[in-house]
Amino acid sequence: MSDYNWCHGPECHEQQTQSRIRGSGDNKVLRTIKIKWGRYNYSGDEQPNVWDYFCNQRCLMDYIRTHLQSIIAIAPRREALETPIKVVKNKYESYRYDWNSDDNGATKRVPYMATKTLIKTVDNDNG
Ligand SMILES: [Zn+2]
Repeated sequence: MSDYNWCHGPECHEQQTQSRIRGSGDNKVLRTIKIKWGRYNYSGDEQPNVWDYFCNQRCLMDYIRTHLQSIIAIAPRREALETPIKVVKNKYESYRYDWNSDDNGATKRVPYMATKTLIKTVDNDNG
């Protein structure tokens, strides 16, 4: 395996940046960006990173747009997935502010019971 990739963006070589200019005299070109392998691999786990294949967000999105149907065909989603959860509603005392209830122009803290909705994942082994 070489220690670099060429950016996979289909239009990488058409973007007009100084970093892409190669050649001399009248034989200049805009060239696909060369990406050093593992340039954003800070964890040291040698896992390939999306930025080992694309020089920037535009090239990544151009690639996805160009090859969308092929990419989707790799792992198509034909039905919805579901994650079992429990919904827990907790009541707690909170305050709202009444900005114009006071004759002196001061705001008033008004207590009320608020509801907090918690979504908890369910371990299938324990029901
Ligand atoms: Zn690129």
